[in-house]
Parts: sequence; structure tokens; C-alpha cells
Amino acid sequence: MNNVNGSGKTWRSDRLSQLGSSIFAEVSEWKRAASANGMDIIDLGIGSPDKPPSESVRKALSEAVLRTDMYAYPSIKSGMPFKEKAAAWMYHRFGVTVDPANEMVTILGSQDGLAHLALAICDPGDIVLLPNPGYPIYAASLALAGVQAHYMPLRSENNFLPDLEAISQDIWQKAKFILLNYPNNPLSAVADLSFFERLLEKARKHDVLVVHDLAYCEMGFDGYKPPSILQVAGASEQVVEFHSLSKSFNMAGCRIGFMAGNREAVGALRELKANIDYGAFDPIQEAGIVALQEAMNETDCTNIGTLYERRRDTFIAALRREGWEVEAPKATMFVWAKLPTICWDSTIIWTSRTISREMLKATGVVVIPGEAFGTEGEGYVRIALVEEEDRLLEAAERIGRFIRGEHVIN
Ligand SMILES: *Cc1c(COP(=O)(O)O)cnc(C)c1O
Repeated sequence: MNNVNGSGKTWRSDRLSQLGSSIFAEVSEWKRAASANGMDIIDLGIGSPDKPPSESVRKALSEAVLRTDMYAYPSIKSGMPFKEKAAAWMYHRFGVTVDPANEMVTILGSQDGLAHLALAICDPGDIVLLPNPGYPIYAASLALAGVQAHYMPLRSENNFLPDLEAISQDIWQKAKFILLNYPNNPLSAVADLSFFERLLEKARKHDVLVVHDLAYCEMGFDGYKPPSILQVAGASEQVVEFHSLSKSFNMAGCRIGFMAGNREAVGALRELKANIDYGAFDPIQEAGIVALQEAMNETDCTNIGTLYERRRDTFIAALRREGWEVEAPKATMFVWAKLPTICWDSTIIWTSRTISREMLKATGVVVIPGEAFGTEGEGYVRIALVEEEDRLLEAAERIGRFIRGEHVIN
């Protein structure tokens, strides 16, 4: 599209078109249309927690906001209190020792760190190993940096782990880093320490940095506590791990997290970010300190996982009653559901996209087509457990009527 002067210039870079799937925009449009038709929308599409942070976190934030010494550029201060607390929490939660001064950088949410990592540690033309399906910013960050993705399919027959042996020696030799995320969004798959050990062995052999996105470490179910890859002995030489307070402490809007691990990579990201933003707003760092301290004070395991475990149990049981046999996740706030069989309309080719679209039109329930996360996501939809149990039950009933075609018959 040309500008009004017809000069041929456009004020939208080609780069923007590489930022990821247009399906998310499409889903928003379906949702807007259904809402305009008077449909009651149950939005299980978004990956944003529906609860607020604890009261003490909100108090800490509001008290800090009233202080007069909180308004300088945050980077002028050391930012050490937040990083020291984060390091203490890493030790408490995982038994991992991180040097907060040299092995940790504070970020404006993992999204910020993930978006900028390739720019900080890669050069154009480098190769990076990415999961397919994968969280959208992974591929987008490579596009921004002119870095080439080599995709690793994550398939159910392999428990949604990459087949490390299927990656050629040549690719291993060339790759700058490998990016993984367990517990996984959108797959809700988990990885144990023995997988991480095998991964690190490969990575060391070929000197590939392992980048692990651990956004869902506090959302394990049935007593399962997702591990940090930094628990593997000597891992910090070869690894950086992203941590986010968004999902663990319902602080998504606060924009704070940290990356911990290899000094050189930490230093590179810090250097890039020093030129882009000047750090996280100090009151948010104060609130983050309280959230992490509170997590360390917990004596039982009444963390955020308990809430999502109950929702999972309610929702999965309800969907099964409606005839949709979905697998129960061990972690995260997502259900990765194989498409149900739809028999009532043979004129439609049922893909993750058409099922999501027709289901939203008929029921008002929003889910994300698996295809939005990569080609390997076809055949699935992602359902986020971000509503109260009564709404999840209502959603399951409506979905059941849709699968059986009752909305058409009546
Ligand atoms: C939500 C999410 C993030 C982003 O978290 P922020 O810290 O809020 O930026 C990163 N990775 C995954 C897999 C997520 O689901």
C-alpha cells in the first residue's frame, strides 16, 4: 500500500509480516463478529491469567508508587534487590545457585527477553533450532534478527519432545542455540531431568547454547514440580533459562521476569537492553520481590497450580462426558486437544482452523487453532483454562452440543 503522496514509500516494514501467524488476528475477528451477533463469549483463547496477584503484592506495588524515590530511570540503580531475591528463589525452588550480578538479567517479561535474545547473541544468517509447534515469539525473534530457523517437530509419539538424534550433525555444528519450553505452551507437555541431561550432552558436544523458557514452572499438577534445566550439574555454562512472574504470580500486566545462566549470553542481552529500555519500573521490581518472598514463605504447596489443577479436572471430565476424549495435561493452563470427529456436516473440511471458527460461531467458545503455533499443530486446538469452573462447565456443554450437531438440528 502506498502512502497518500504516491511516492511508493510505505510506513510498514516487510519485517512486520514475518512476526507470526495471522491466525490470532483472524480469531479476534471471529470473536468480534460473534460478540456483535449478541453471542455470550467464553474466551478460552487467551493465555493470560484471569486472577490478580496476591493482596500483599498489590500493596507493595501501591506503596512503592507513592514513594518519591521510585521515578528515576531504573537502570541508574543497581536493580540488585530484585535479582538477589530472584536468585534466592531459584535456590529455594530448584536448589540452583545463580550469581545475581553476573548470571542474571532482569527483563520486562519473558516476551521482552525472548524477542531480543537472537538480536543480542546471533548474527544474520546464523541457524537456531526451534520447536514446531512453538510459542510465536520464538520464530518472530529470529525473523527480526535475520536468523534462520531449523524446526524440530514435536509429536505425540515422542511425548512432544524433540528427537535429538534426528537433527543432523551438520545442523548441530552450525546451530547457535536451541530453544525449548517445558512445561510447554501450547502442548502442555513436560520434560524430566533425564531429557535435559541428554539435551545438554548434545549441546556441549556441539557447543550449542540451550535456551529454556520456563514460564509454567509453578503450574504442575498431581504433586508434579517442573524442574529447571539449571538443575543439571554444570548447566549454567551452556544454558540460559527464562523465568516470568506473569503466570506464576498472576503478574502478567506488570511485565517482569529474568533470564539466568551463561554469563556471556546474559551480558549480551543486558548490553542490548541497556540501549533499548532502561529497566523495569522500580515499583514493579518491589512487587516482584514480595511475590518471590511470598512463594518462599509458603509451607504447603498451595501455589497457583492448585487452582488450575481443579479447573483441569472439572473441564476434562466435562468434555469427556460430552464425548470428546481429550488428554489431561500434567502442567500449564492449557489443554492441547486432538480434534473431535464431526459427522454432521461433510461439506466442511474440518481442520483446526475451521473447527475453531465454526465452534466459535455456534457456541461463543473461543479456542486457538493448533496451526497458529506451526504446521505440526494441525489436528489440535489449544484451550486455555482461564475462566472459573462454572464457565468451563458451560463451555464444555456448548462444545458437546456443537460436536453432536445439535445447534444445526434445532
Ligand atoms: C506467557 C508466555 C511467555 C511470556 O511471558 P511474559 O513474562 O509475560 O512476557 C513466554 N513464554 C511462554 C511459553 C508463555 O506462555
